[in-house]
Amino acid sequence: MSPASWGRRPRVVDVAVIGCGIVGLSIAFQLRRRGLSCLLIDPRGPAGDASHGNAGAVSVGNLMPQSTPGMILPALLGLRDPLAPFKLDAGAWPHYAGWLWRFLRAGSAARLAPIVDATHALNRAARAVWLELADAIDAIDLISPTGYLHVYSEDAGFERSARARAHMRRNGVAFDVLDAAQLRELEPGLAAFTRHGVLQRDSLFVREPGEFCRRLFNWLCARGADTLIASAHAIEREGEGYRVRTSGGDAHVDQVVVAAGAWSGELLRPFGLRLPVAAARGYHAMYPRQEGVVRRPTLWAERYMVVSPMRSGVRVTGFKEMSAPGRPARPALIRGLAPQARLLFPSLAGQPVSDWAGLRPCTPDSLPILDRVDDERIFIATGHGHLGLTQGPISGELVAQAMAGEAVSVPLAPYGLARFGRYARA
Ligand SMILES: Cc1cc2nc3c(=O)[nH]c(=O)nc-3n(C[C@H](O)[C@H](O)[C@H](O)COP(=O)(O)OP(=O)(O)OC[C@H]3O[C@@H](n4cnc5c(N)ncnc54)[C@H](O)[C@@H]3O)c2cc1C
Repeated sequence: MSPASWGRRPRVVDVAVIGCGIVGLSIAFQLRRRGLSCLLIDPRGPAGDASHGNAGAVSVGNLMPQSTPGMILPALLGLRDPLAPFKLDAGAWPHYAGWLWRFLRAGSAARLAPIVDATHALNRAARAVWLELADAIDAIDLISPTGYLHVYSEDAGFERSARARAHMRRNGVAFDVLDAAQLRELEPGLAAFTRHGVLQRDSLFVREPGEFCRRLFNWLCARGADTLIASAHAIEREGEGYRVRTSGGDAHVDQVVVAAGAWSGELLRPFGLRLPVAAARGYHAMYPRQEGVVRRPTLWAERYMVVSPMRSGVRVTGFKEMSAPGRPARPALIRGLAPQARLLFPSLAGQPVSDWAGLRPCTPDSLPILDRVDDERIFIATGHGHLGLTQGPISGELVAQAMAGEAVSVPLAPYGLARFGRYARA
């Protein structure tokens, strides 16, 4: 349907889904299953941002939040090291100053266990929902059951991650601890300096996350979803439903889903909300496609760098740079880090052929926001931070269950806005 025709048409669509990343598209898929019609709105089409450029790991064992007890000092000291993962975009400081304070507070010892439990509640369901989704849209060829490997170059780094393993053990996550010889057997291309490994056995690898989203988008379009390649500017009440104002005309719908990643906040301010979602920019560089170098997504834990054998080439991802939508990226950061991939995998050939940057939508406690705006038929699904690829499809199922008035398969209280108290009120 042409954007211009929207302004003149009566309401024909049940739900406007704002944002076509993995989260919005997964919600649309589940709504379609329940017989609801959707309008997919995104100025950049499917996978316009983080859902395109990530490392591809459906990492069911990543249970630790980003803010943990004792992480402050190493992060601050690391600000002077160009290869250290944590970065601050000084020009965006007003956007994340208050958030950062809450982020540090969320890292207290007392809050760790509930956050881990709420993360696990989503992650333990993630694998099955991912496989079901991939099967349904005929994209199972993009999923590999490789597991997700974390490697450590220093004994101290491995010891520091003991708490993460304890939480995996406590929650029954399947993982193997590997010594140097076992690591080399599993990933023969790894450099000799890697000393320890942890393989999350049940984690999956999405071999091309952007392509997966495009197939899901096309699947939805082929089954009647309308699309609007436009930016949503405002959501306004209109009778029993809503008018969504976009750069491509207005849409008239019964319900709205805001799943616009790091951009979600502005749309909800008129409803008295201030989403505690900050933008943590990540980067990637692509090396040419090559066989036999790396078999699965492999995280070099001390560098927070992941090397993933995508279909289109070997992808190196890294950095968490606190920033804001609209701020310029610093591709030089990843160009500095990418050669480290050859340290980790010495047979990696060639030079990076492209680089990319995108924004992770992050909450202070690393849990997503899956909630309904009070007294409205507007649903929020954002804040998935570093685990949005993992948790996108299960979030889609839960939001659709809530919208359809069904019993939710995971209790939603830990992901509600109420946990932020007055901070989430504009
Ligand atoms: C470098 C990197 C590596 C990562 N690796 C992993 C990993 O291995 N595993 C994992 O689980 N997670 C990973 N993540 C995190 C994951 O990619 C994100 O959490 C996830 O993609 C977020 O999905 P989303 O749909 O919420 O947001 P996005 O993918 O950012 O999608 C939001 C969409 O909303 C659109 N939009 C914005 N404003 C508007 C508007 N006004 N109107 C309409 N549309 C709008 C955007 O164009 C965009 O397409 C990684 C992230 C990065 C950056």
